[in-house]
Amino acid sequence: MQPVTSEISEAGETEISVVIPVYREAGNIAPLCARLLPVVERITPAFEILFVDDGSTDGTLNEIRRANAAEPRIAAVSFSRNFGKEIAIAAGLDHARGRAVVIMDADLQHPPETIPAFVERWREGYTMIYGQRTDRAGESRLKRSFTHVFYRLFARFGETELPEGAGDFRLIDRKGVQVLTALGERARFSKGLYAWIGFKSTGVPFVVEDRHHGTTKWSFRRLFRFAFDGITSFSTVPLRVWTYLGGLVSLCAIAAAIYVAVRTLIFGSDVAGYPSIIVSITFFAGIQLMSLGIIGEYIGRIFAEVKRRPLYVVGETVGRVSASMPVPAEDRRTSLA
Ligand code: UDP
Ligand code: MG
Repeated sequence: MQPVTSEISEAGETEISVVIPVYREAGNIAPLCARLLPVVERITPAFEILFVDDGSTDGTLNEIRRANAAEPRIAAVSFSRNFGKEIAIAAGLDHARGRAVVIMDADLQHPPETIPAFVERWREGYTMIYGQRTDRAGESRLKRSFTHVFYRLFARFGETELPEGAGDFRLIDRKGVQVLTALGERARFSKGLYAWIGFKSTGVPFVVEDRHHGTTKWSFRRLFRFAFDGITSFSTVPLRVWTYLGGLVSLCAIAAAIYVAVRTLIFGSDVAGYPSIIVSITFFAGIQLMSLGIIGEYIGRIFAEVKRRPLYVVGETVGRVSASMPVPAEDRRTSLA
């Protein structure tokens, strides 16, 4: 095993780190490296390609070992289990040494040929350069409209602005990486975090290619969960909305009470009206349960944050991997490597 700590001092000597989260991508590693290497080599010889193996169960890590044997500037951090793409990106940022860090997918949907354009803007002085997909042609109608609704909701309620069409394919200057790695949040909604940290940002359009090999690992359920995480990490509107709704309902109740009182005084009382009572009881019971659920959602999040577990566990590393870069906040990760 490598002596990992001695390499912290080399921070800054690497010009560009390419961070690639991979989960069961064995068939994509070699084709990706074949396309990526010449592109970054032309930009600078001082680069590193850092795979973050998100607990793959196939031959992904072996493929990376093979790539590392042929090109030592390829390295990997391997998780002890699947922690999810967002956390894999966080780990990549923790371990990347470069003065600029490029994040991209392993399936060649993010064309490596776009990276020189990123680097150009970076050298012009931008801190954050995001790839902006020009179309979502390859996606189902359902997924597309879902995405659209999400962006609309986020724009309305999220306290941060998200550029639409900007994903994880991006270049971040060390300055931005430092801020991102210091954020201790467990619910990592990177897209929101990228926007939240601010700095001078710009987009570079790119066309999404077809997945080279294998299928997407994002089920609809996972995407929904992800979107929900995104909104609740960046907005407290779902919590506050019940106050207004409750107020509105109370006003209606008062109006109804006055109406009933007046009617009883004029016409006397009657015992009709069971259906309306049942309907209103079940309706408001539903609303109360829903609001409790939302509150529970946030309490669950607080619980996850206060446990302060490390974000991920590294099982092993391949090649030259630096210890995670010094972070000003308290240390939040464990390494078995
Ligand atoms: N990925 C990951 N962990 C996961 C799921 C995906 O690291 O739990 C990686 C995956 O290997 C790929 C990237 O995240 O490099 C994007 O995944 P995918 O292509 O499945 O998503 P999509 O392009 O459909 O959004
Ligand atoms: Mg993909």
